[in-house]
Amino acid sequence: MSEERSCGQQGTTGAPGGYETVRMEKTRNVCPMCEDYARAQASKPVVVMCCEGACLRGEIARQAANLLCHKLAPDKTVRLCLGGAFTKDTGQRGLARSGKRVVALEGCFIECASRMMKGVIPELEPEIIIADNLYESDRSFFGIDEMPEAHIKVHAEEVARKVLEWV
Ligand code: SF4
Repeated sequence: MSEERSCGQQGTTGAPGGYETVRMEKTRNVCPMCEDYARAQASKPVVVMCCEGACLRGEIARQAANLLCHKLAPDKTVRLCLGGAFTKDTGQRGLARSGKRVVALEGCFIECASRMMKGVIPELEPEIIIADNLYESDRSFFGIDEMPEAHIKVHAEEVARKVLEWV
């Protein structure tokens, strides 16, 4: 069940489609730079995770998350590495676990970032923002090659500025 909220945010409760069990290989590899990053960013109040997707919607969300965390609100927000946080229990997952606020900037209604992270941190309650709801565009486009780069940037900036008001 979804509850519409402002700023493109939706809260999803329960798992309407049931659950999927994943058997994931563990790694012993640890990236020291990633761990340093996680330690250095741990005091920031807003953790931002994002779809990181390969499609246009994911790309706009990804660029918006980068803009927000690295340009518009670098003192307040920390950009989470979704893949690192999902696949191993080290610093990145720690950021999501202990973040005062965790914002999931989703590329679309598939909500991959928040569903992935809730899989490894069941008690996680991210604030979900569907980036796709925050800009007007031709909804028939799917690939990043279907929109000029300059337009992608404009949409990403629009999303980032709207999310900035939210965080
Ligand atoms: S989850 Fe949605 S936004 Fe992300 S890559 Fe897949 S289709 Fe694109």
